[in-house]
Amino acid sequence: MSDPQNYQVGWICAIETEYVAAKAFLDEIHKASEYLSPSDNNDYTLGKVGNHNIVIAILPDDEYGTTSAASVARDMLHSFTNIRVGLMVGIAGGAPSATHGIRLGDVVVSAARDGKDGVVQFDFGKRVQCREFQRFGFLNQPSTVLRTAVVGLRSQHTVHGHQLDESVNAILQKNPRLQEKFARPDKKTDILYHSDFLHAQGADNCGNMCGNDPSILKLQSKRSKDDDTVIHYGLIASSNH
Ligand SMILES: [Zn+2]
Repeated sequence: MSDPQNYQVGWICAIETEYVAAKAFLDEIHKASEYLSPSDNNDYTLGKVGNHNIVIAILPDDEYGTTSAASVARDMLHSFTNIRVGLMVGIAGGAPSATHGIRLGDVVVSAARDGKDGVVQFDFGKRVQCREFQRFGFLNQPSTVLRTAVVGLRSQHTVHGHQLDESVNAILQKNPRLQEKFARPDKKTDILYHSDFLHAQGADNCGNMCGNDPSILKLQSKRSKDDDTVIHYGLIASSNH
């Protein structure tokens, strides 16, 4: 039986798709622990990545948002009292800009920029008549050990590349059932529309329903094969809407 005291990294997923992917990347899966706090409502997967014992938890079905994430994190800390690092890993929307050409499948790592700590609470602030929305919600900076690890990893990637695509492909080969839902979709489906284009109502497939006339599309520069997936570092916006 796994002892909760042996786990120092807590990983929270918001939705099932993320939970499945997280579990698939564990090098080892450990037996569930029976020694959990009686008031703990979480569902856990325990395991190991490299040398690190990891506990993964998921938000309740059909419940997202920062309040829900906070209560899952609190329950986790009640049962796994030695957790030193908490990670929120999941799917997000990327807004490409002139400086950050974010595409489908890219990875964004939260990092402090311009004196602002890694995560902006995008909808937290003050609205006053005739003035712009004043935003003042920022999460505390991650611990030094994480911030130095980011630089260490990034420098390693600069020399050797990140091999993310190889790792994902290896997982898909090992778990063929994941292929359909988790493999990288055809590049042709990554279409970027101008932000003022009005999409067809109820469209779940823009390619079929909204068209791909060049006048409504924003051109994206071609990427070389070597950097199919790009890792971006900077501020992440988090909000409930
Ligand atoms: Zn559309």
